[in-house]
Amino acid sequence: MVSYKPEARSQKPEARSQKLMIKAIRGTRDLLPPDTALWNFVEAAVRDVFRAYNFQEIRTPIFEETQLFARSVGEETDIVSKEMYTWEDKARSFPEWALELLDRVQGTLGGSKLEALNYIASSRAEIEADRWKAQSLTLRPENTAGVVRAYIEHKLWDRGLNKLYYIGPQFRRERPQKGRYRQFYQIGAEVIGPPTAGSESPARDAEVLELLATLLDRLGIENWTLQLNSIGCSNDRAKYNDALRKALEPVAAEMCADCQRRAVTNPLRVFDCKVPEDQPIIEKLPRISQYLDEPCRKHFEEVQAILKSVGVEFHLNDRLVRGLDYYTRTAFEFTHGALGAQNAILGGGRYDGLSESLGGPSAPGIGFAIGEDRLVLALKQSAEAVQVKPDVYIAPLGTGMDREAARLARELRRHDIVVELGDENFRLKKSFETATKAGARYILIVGENEVKAGAFTLKHLESGEQVSVPRSELAKRIQTGR
Ligand code: AMP
Repeated sequence: MVSYKPEARSQKPEARSQKLMIKAIRGTRDLLPPDTALWNFVEAAVRDVFRAYNFQEIRTPIFEETQLFARSVGEETDIVSKEMYTWEDKARSFPEWALELLDRVQGTLGGSKLEALNYIASSRAEIEADRWKAQSLTLRPENTAGVVRAYIEHKLWDRGLNKLYYIGPQFRRERPQKGRYRQFYQIGAEVIGPPTAGSESPARDAEVLELLATLLDRLGIENWTLQLNSIGCSNDRAKYNDALRKALEPVAAEMCADCQRRAVTNPLRVFDCKVPEDQPIIEKLPRISQYLDEPCRKHFEEVQAILKSVGVEFHLNDRLVRGLDYYTRTAFEFTHGALGAQNAILGGGRYDGLSESLGGPSAPGIGFAIGEDRLVLALKQSAEAVQVKPDVYIAPLGTGMDREAARLARELRRHDIVVELGDENFRLKKSFETATKAGARYILIVGENEVKAGAFTLKHLESGEQVSVPRSELAKRIQTGR
């Protein structure tokens, strides 16, 4: 029956609107159990695979200076031009600003604090203007830029070749749809180091690609396709960009507004266009494969040769240019049919000039980012199948038994037994129902008589078998069933 509540009706609109339900922001979502079990399963498998390939974890901040992304991902990309969550952070207090400035000058010039102070004194006018500027910050839309920033900041070249992986959220203001979110999760890796550490070698590209094939196979994801291309180096790119500009000149006017702009500023980005009417024009444009110089062609051939030798299948796709400016040479995507429109499960490539463009030394590298949301969508396993269920549900029976139950739970958990703990206020029937709903294997009854006797009733919930087990043998019995 619906009851009529006059007080609710009489509330003023402002008062009522204050109680409007607060929901998660569009494009973000809560991951709840049992689904989180599937996420944990994926992450555990991924960490195992990374371990076998000798990768180590890196965690970088979720927000960085906006300039980092503008300079690496590229001003003309969709990510930087439309999709970043950027804000002006408050102007800093004088001490915060002064210390940051000192660090920054010392970091750039090297040398002592005194030398940094001298430099600051000599560039006073310029620096004072900076004092009042708010800092522009951005939620990371991808993680490669942060990793390369950390590589430079912590002089990681001293360690030779770095094989790093990360797992974490990224943020892009895209139109939300299935498989595309505004907060999404990436599992990624970067192999980066000085050229002397072998970072430029095609063997690194092939190892990364083979790792990915192993990872997808390990997770039971079938029917993936590796799309492979080489987009050359800056030499080739200059020639190719000229050819693209020339080819686009007579046709750009028929294309979408974005492509008209791209045709002038960054013609390679025309390949990111999703507008159906533009596709026949794009189909006829010259391809980068015709413009690779000898070293780039050889590098790409060697990547393919190693992949063939380890038995990883690939499809050459010379339209694949990836949506970020920093890529050079090998570029790739793994797609999966079951994902529909958002079929790219992961993407990556080489970025040999990225460190220099961020003010660092030469540090060729190759990396990838897997969309974890899409990876989970492509999995066959059900969340229930990988969820950890309690080994035992402890049911305290009657007043004072919560204390005894807590002691027992502590003892059993020390043996790595998964314990769910009940409540002395529950009747036995409710304890059984709760234990069954939680999916526990056993229920353990803790009543006054059991405590006195030092032996407890242990019942296997599925078979109904019930035994009395001395305290000292409980852990073994629950673990082995004997
Ligand atoms: P990208 O570097 O943009 O190719 O991103 C790498 C991978 O991250 C893609 O292949 C997707 O699987 C995933 N990804 C990118 N953007 C989103 C998004 N908005 N929502 C979910 N996954 C995404």
